[in-house]
Amino acid sequence: MPAVTVPDPALVVLVGPSGSGKSTWAAARYRQSEIVGSDQLRGIVGSGEHDLDASADAFALLDQIAAARLRRGLNTVVDTLGLDAERRRYHLGLARRAGLPAVAVLFGTEAAECRRRNRGRARPVPADVLDSQLRRMPDAAAEIAAEGWIMVSEADDAAPEPSHTAGSQAAAARQLSEPAELSLILQISRFPWGSDPAAWLTAIGAAAADAGMAGIALMDHLIQIPQVGRAWEPIPEPWVTLGMLAGRSPGLQLGTLVSPVTFRAPGVIAKAIATLDVLTGGRAFCGLGAGWWQREHAAFGLPFPPVRQRLDQLETAIETLRALWGRGTKAYAGERVSLPETTCYPRPVSAIPIIVGGSGERRTLRIAARLADGCNLPADLTALDRKLAVLQSHCEQAGRDPAEMLLTVLDVPVLGDSRDHVADLVEQLRGRLSAAVYARQHHAGTASDHIGRYRLLAQRGVRIVFVSLPNLNGPDDVLRLAPVADAFG
Ligand code: GDP
Ligand code: MG
Repeated sequence: MPAVTVPDPALVVLVGPSGSGKSTWAAARYRQSEIVGSDQLRGIVGSGEHDLDASADAFALLDQIAAARLRRGLNTVVDTLGLDAERRRYHLGLARRAGLPAVAVLFGTEAAECRRRNRGRARPVPADVLDSQLRRMPDAAAEIAAEGWIMVSEADDAAPEPSHTAGSQAAAARQLSEPAELSLILQISRFPWGSDPAAWLTAIGAAAADAGMAGIALMDHLIQIPQVGRAWEPIPEPWVTLGMLAGRSPGLQLGTLVSPVTFRAPGVIAKAIATLDVLTGGRAFCGLGAGWWQREHAAFGLPFPPVRQRLDQLETAIETLRALWGRGTKAYAGERVSLPETTCYPRPVSAIPIIVGGSGERRTLRIAARLADGCNLPADLTALDRKLAVLQSHCEQAGRDPAEMLLTVLDVPVLGDSRDHVADLVEQLRGRLSAAVYARQHHAGTASDHIGRYRLLAQRGVRIVFVSLPNLNGPDDVLRLAPVADAFG
């Protein structure tokens, strides 16, 4: 039975009598700092976890901590009995105000088992107190059903697990039993290559192959973009760099994601990619976009016309590539391009896919539907679903079968070995963004989170995920992708 996904971040309120296993369940799934418990806080403001005289102070503190965390969008697990309706209502209100989902996890452990565990404790709860908790449980479950919580039960075979993507736990489980196909291509956007750039690139290429990635894509920019790094950090010319990788990383697909059509004359792009295709035995792909960053154009003396004209250039470029990659040398006359001859040798040895990047709904996606082999869309499922609907309608207008589009996404995941590691990475990388916002933007999670999410992408028809690691420093970072790539073998 696949696992049930508990939304993350969320307010997670545990509900169950003493000894039902609440604290144990939470500790196995959440980081210590995500859990606020009345026992723990009695131990801080009172003489110990069982100092009932300190309860009022402990609960006041618990409410304050929960409120502060939820306000920051941080996942919060409330580990108390959860049997008090008034306290639940208060916590539900905190989650609502923070715009976070509120989940009640019910612990329906058998009464006899709770009693047995209670007796085994160093300081058991008095038997009559436990009895009254056990009697409250069925009523509490009925009340909770009417209070507006997402209700899950710990006792389900489908053991609930936290994840930021709805359905991802179940999808990850399904991926293991009936794998869906998907290629992962490492997109390199930063080049912290130290004193030996060629050695660094070679090691990254080898790690990508070892990790089971299908290829490498390079970003094509003239100055490092602010979304990735600082302007003085190295950003190599991609076609030269891909030429080196072609020689050192046999077997990988190679291309850019994406080359702005404003940088090079279309015929010269055609020549470079055809050459790469020949040198790699047919493993080149071609990402193309309209370009967006004025600064790099100005700095390199390149024209940066208005967007409408750049999109015209994108159409021109695709037409030119197809003309020069086709067979023969005859003259070409198309919608935007006329060439007296199409003599371009060496010819590509494969049908090089042209993938349009950018998801402008009115024009870019229409260009992709009309002229390209594929298009690169956002990895966020909500955004993707919207773009897919638009793309589909452009395909229908263009008389093209949408199923034949090569769908790709660019994903920039934070991938950690454990929930603790994920949180550390987010804290390291988040810059000025809040941890909650950064984690959401980067789908921060462990391999199984990403496997589930990629499976959900594959179910929508996505065939390639370009994976860009925000913390790519060396080959070890690439190797961390191995479990994800393996799952899509
Ligand atoms: P809480 O009072 O609901 O927080 O319960 P705890 O998580 O503290 O668990 C009470 C006792 O039951 C502890 O000694 C746990 O080790 C034990 N326990 C908790 N969950 C399980 C479980 O799933 N199986 C078994 N066998 N013991 C458990
Ligand atoms: Mg407990």
